[in-house]
Amino acid sequence: MIIDAHTHIMPPRVRERREDLVATEPAFAEIYANPDAKIATAEELLASMDEAGIDYSVACNFAWSSEVLVEATNDYLLEWAQRSGGRIIPFVSMYFPENAGAHGRSDMEEAPASAKGGVRERLRDLSASGARGLGELRPDSLGYSLADSDEADLLSWAAAAFDMPLLVHASEPVGHHYAGKAGGSIESIAAFARNAAGATVIAAHWGGGLPFYALMPEVNAALENVYFDTSASHLLYDPMIYRRVIDLVGIEKVLFGSDFPLTSQAKALDRTRDAPDVTEDEMAAICGNNAAELLLL
Ligand SMILES: [Zn+2]
Repeated sequence: MIIDAHTHIMPPRVRERREDLVATEPAFAEIYANPDAKIATAEELLASMDEAGIDYSVACNFAWSSEVLVEATNDYLLEWAQRSGGRIIPFVSMYFPENAGAHGRSDMEEAPASAKGGVRERLRDLSASGARGLGELRPDSLGYSLADSDEADLLSWAAAAFDMPLLVHASEPVGHHYAGKAGGSIESIAAFARNAAGATVIAAHWGGGLPFYALMPEVNAALENVYFDTSASHLLYDPMIYRRVIDLVGIEKVLFGSDFPLTSQAKALDRTRDAPDVTEDEMAAICGNNAAELLLL
């Protein structure tokens, strides 16, 4: 079974409104102001999966700041999960109203109890509507910290309560800059993992280098429920990253992900299969068996 644990799809109207959204959505602008940055629809993802021989793809939402966009794009993902017969596995976004409150915000004491309750209800509804996870989260781009905030508490509660992994964008604290690098500090991911017992995290793009710190016993303990996907690997790392991370965090923690449509799924899969010094069994685990277990497929 071949599973791509990290792709993105958007409704056709996002592509049609691209220029408006570049003007109004900061995280979107960071990546999609560049006209070469591709946007794919569900139909295009399914065609790509057929071409590449991929059975299931996790399709993630994006860090929209507008509630209307969060809802519309979530609906699209949930609709296509159904229409694809389950081949598209929807990871949705969550809109946090201002008064969901961040730690230390002065209006928090007066925030109506319903504000937090409302977010909880919404997360419950999303799970009941077929959402299988949340992501791709870019907390820093949306103004909250994964390390310590009410938003982080709500996310970890939902992840544990509804068995919805959190797919978090992770970025390398060193190395070259690229569009969309910002917004996933490994410090905050490590802190979240330590605090959020019971929540499963998928740290994207090899976790921004976090696997290296698994050599520290306390970090290793905190990473118990943290997985690492291979998305965009070829733009970031030497192919030896596969062998190195397997040895650092264990084979069961590594998930093949392409970051489609940033790259073609077929090419990403070929590159993964070409990774040096990885056994056939390990490759089968990375390319599908690990994700199948995690996502109960
Ligand atoms: Zn990412």
